[in-house]
Amino acid sequence: MNLIFLGPPGAGKGTQAKITSEKYGIPQISTGDIFRKAVADQTELGKQAKAIMEKGELVPDNLTIELVKERLAKDDVKAGFILDGFPRTIEQAKALDNFAEIDAAINFEIDKEEIVRRLTGRRICSNCGAIYHITDFPPKVPGICDKCGGKLYQRDDDKPEAIEKRLAVYTKQTEPLITFYSSAGKLRNINSSINPETSEKQLIDIINSIKA
Ligand code: AMP
Repeated sequence: MNLIFLGPPGAGKGTQAKITSEKYGIPQISTGDIFRKAVADQTELGKQAKAIMEKGELVPDNLTIELVKERLAKDDVKAGFILDGFPRTIEQAKALDNFAEIDAAINFEIDKEEIVRRLTGRRICSNCGAIYHITDFPPKVPGICDKCGGKLYQRDDDKPEAIEKRLAVYTKQTEPLITFYSSAGKLRNINSSINPETSEKQLIDIINSIKA
């Protein structure tokens, strides 16, 4: 089962990708996570990506495509995978068609006010990557991860100026993918504005229909 999770930043793709990955035993491949790790490890890729990411812009297609191509060549994707945050441009989507067969592109629909509210309140565990929200899903002890005791942080690109930029980039470069996958007969929409449980239910229905 090869899935793409599509949608604007803050739509809940990462949260649902983690749940789906655990439930079905297929890896979540988040290009954002890969880039953040490269930045933290100060690798050559990280050096190239850092300033671009802080501004909320997209890392160049050639770098991103190569990275995903290499990742999808590994053995652990044989039973399937979830691409979370890739593709983000038509060029990436066309390249992906050359090295992977996609079952469905799941589009997380949500309105802009809710995105801004979610992103500004989002906090991430610096150790295990667990995702919290200061009011919707707060940790038991403020600033500390319930699961591993790691310190929570706010992503630089979850600050208001970067959010505006990321939304503009999404509208211009990523939203056209909705038509791309719809034309290919692969698009499935879920209403992602209610709560994670409701998103998960819709997702399970879609996955069951794919597996049936
Ligand atoms: P995310 O965690 O998916 O919101 O990604 C964080 C940042 O990583 C984005 O704002 C981009 O700068 C970069 N990034 C992640 N995925 C991609 C992609 N598919 N293409 C280009 N840049 C990406």
